[in-house]
Amino acid sequence: MKGLPAETDFVVIGAGVAGLRAAIELANAGRVLVLAKKDDFGALSAQGGIPSTLSDEEEVILHLQDTLIAGDGLCLQQAVKTLVEEGPERIQELIAWGRQLDRPKTKLVFETEPSYSHSHVLRAPGDSTGVETLRALHAKVQSCKNISVLEFEFSTGLLTEGERVTGVSLISEKGLPEEIASSAVLLATGGMGQIYRNTTNPEAATGDGVAMALRAGAEISDMEFIQFYPTVLYMKKAPRLLLSEALRSDGGYLRNIEMDRFMGKYHPLAEQAPNDVVARAIMHEMEVSHAKDPFVYLDMTHLSAARVQKRFPRIHAACIKHNIDITEDVIPVRPAAHFAIGGVRTDLTGKTNLAGLYAAGEVAATGVHGANRLASNALLEGLGFGARAGKAMRNELKHASKPASAQKKAASQNGPVDAGIEELIGQIQDIMWKDAGIVRTRVGMQEAVKVLEGLMPRVAHPRTRRAHEAANLHLASTLVARSALAREESRGSHYRIDYPGHDDKKFLKHSVVKGESLRFV
Ligand SMILES: Cc1cc2nc3c(=O)[nH]c(=O)nc-3n(C[C@H](O)[C@H](O)[C@H](O)COP(=O)(O)OP(=O)(O)OC[C@H]3O[C@@H](n4cnc5c(N)ncnc54)[C@H](O)[C@@H]3O)c2cc1C
Repeated sequence: MKGLPAETDFVVIGAGVAGLRAAIELANAGRVLVLAKKDDFGALSAQGGIPSTLSDEEEVILHLQDTLIAGDGLCLQQAVKTLVEEGPERIQELIAWGRQLDRPKTKLVFETEPSYSHSHVLRAPGDSTGVETLRALHAKVQSCKNISVLEFEFSTGLLTEGERVTGVSLISEKGLPEEIASSAVLLATGGMGQIYRNTTNPEAATGDGVAMALRAGAEISDMEFIQFYPTVLYMKKAPRLLLSEALRSDGGYLRNIEMDRFMGKYHPLAEQAPNDVVARAIMHEMEVSHAKDPFVYLDMTHLSAARVQKRFPRIHAACIKHNIDITEDVIPVRPAAHFAIGGVRTDLTGKTNLAGLYAAGEVAATGVHGANRLASNALLEGLGFGARAGKAMRNELKHASKPASAQKKAASQNGPVDAGIEELIGQIQDIMWKDAGIVRTRVGMQEAVKVLEGLMPRVAHPRTRRAHEAANLHLASTLVARSALAREESRGSHYRIDYPGHDDKKFLKHSVVKGESLRFV
């Protein structure tokens, strides 16, 4: 396709797992335009795996149970059932589209991860699951002539007519404001880890989908539930490289700066404890160390070097770049924000409360993860609910009246370079890390909300891409802080010192924000 069209049948915002899988489902129904703001994809760094049972009924039940246990009472049972029952089909088709999976001899490899009661995580060669997943999806997309994928097109908002979404506005690759009309729009914009100073997420994860949806009138749910990854490489000037929990399940130890193993003090499963327990334990060890720049160590040095190197080739190679040989050296680590459990509220077909608007993947809140995500369920969610959203969106073409072509705006939104924008984003990330992060208190979150309110005038009229990202980060942060403040209990990934236990009577519910209102349903 040459340039941007004024009108198309379906717009998919996001070219990750969820967006591409949805586009494939839509390809036979009409013209599909997939927009990405960059050429980097979150899933490329996914190293863990995709849970899959392929067909065994007993394993489907175990996967369902593990997901429900991790979700700590808040999973929508029907959503989980859908995920695990349809998972095998999604994996089979992925294999058929060209995925290279670990197959010593002829067998697919199923491996354990902490929180799984059975070995049912499927991996691509070594630790390159995300790369292989996207490679297979791209291969299939390229064979669909109805799908156009355009990169560096930055969506800034959703076009609406009353309660119906009729297209998108964007800043094009050329820096020009454009509008594209469509019968339906899918938000597949990924996560929002960049609201925190420390995150495993790519730069693109600035919460754009959630922010666009809220502004258009969509409901946003479960924003207080942010999953923090316990073990992320911590070295000055090194990227926050995720060190997969598989390192722990393969026998890795956690040690404090005195070189003492400490997880046994916090959980009977020690290093095999759930990620949120490990993250909080590390935070506590860092706090009591009184170090100015605290961290702990992940230690693989007691394990067979050959096996570690074979199992984790990408992690091994990435650490070598920073002069750490994980087979010989202990690895300095810290926790970092990793996965947004909440997002745009949808039903099981990806439909939001606004006609014509769908969401899938990390940006969506389907209820599948409850209050905490089971490790490795995200890629499967993107595949499964991406496919479902695509299928449901086809009906919009049949039933919706053809939207009128949108007008292109005259004025350029390129604008001057935003003075102080990076410092503003840094302020947002710092306050969120300090006061709405892994361990939360009322006083801290009230402070976060106050600071964010004070920054409001600075994000009110964004013109450039980066200014839009700052405004989106600000809005997503406000949603997280407000929802976390309102949930006066601890559950799943949301931990409050002042309310350390569950309060099922008041909070066995989902937070839902619409406009300014916040309620629990
Ligand atoms: C380091 C790391 C390791 C992980 N490991 C695993 C794992 O082993 N197993 C697992 O299941 N999950 C894993 N996850 C989580 C999983 O990778 C993500 O949840 C998943 O890839 C999200 O897919 P998505 O399709 O929703 O979004 P993404 O893949 O993040 O794609 C988002 C897309 O939206 C586009 N976009 C965003 N905003 C805009 C905008 N304003 N305009 C236009 N385009 C926009 C981006 O350019 C991108 O194309 C990992 C995540 C990370 C960060």
